[in-house]
Amino acid sequence: MATKPTFRQEISNLLYASHGDPFSNCIQCGTCSGTCPVAEFMDEPPRRLIGMINANMKEEVLDCNTYWFCASCYHCTVRCPSNIDIASVMYAVKRYSIWHKTYSDELVGPVFSETFMKTVAHNGKSYEPILATTYLFGFGAKEFFQEVQGATRMMLKGRIPVLPSKIKHLKNFQKMIKRIVPIGEET
Ligand code: SF4
Ligand code: SF4
Repeated sequence: MATKPTFRQEISNLLYASHGDPFSNCIQCGTCSGTCPVAEFMDEPPRRLIGMINANMKEEVLDCNTYWFCASCYHCTVRCPSNIDIASVMYAVKRYSIWHKTYSDELVGPVFSETFMKTVAHNGKSYEPILATTYLFGFGAKEFFQEVQGATRMMLKGRIPVLPSKIKHLKNFQKMIKRIVPIGEET
């Protein structure tokens, strides 16, 4: 009888095949935490998150904000002495959290990520005005109007499209991503 995969195996399975199971290679040196520009805002720094995944601390990993605060700068990935692609691990935990709906409703990150994926699945590319609606309303009135003014100026200069456009051969693209992203429904 097949045994249920551990949390660590589930996250490993979400990484690209070339990554294998990187967690046992972590020597807990802390280079990732030391180099991370947003570590101070994270509930757990990257070093601890990797250790927690290695220890199958599923609830604790999913409950923390670390992977949502990751800015995908890849500083940690290029500096890790054990060649662990920590930024990809952060993406893997994000995907896990979205697919299993384990995130808290107050977080902007999950809604932003899901909206981004749906927009890309629908048009073949991102469309900033729709993405902006996922976080704009969380701002105070002053910041909201500053953002709207900035976006309007960029639209007038042609830096943000007024209407979404679609890529060529969209059907082929949609068929491809539906194989790997469960939310890639053609809407
Ligand atoms: S830099 Fe790499 S080896 Fe060091 S703690 Fe971070 S993940 Fe582990
Ligand atoms: S990729 Fe994420 S975790 Fe790594 S250094 Fe950048 S912000 Fe920090």
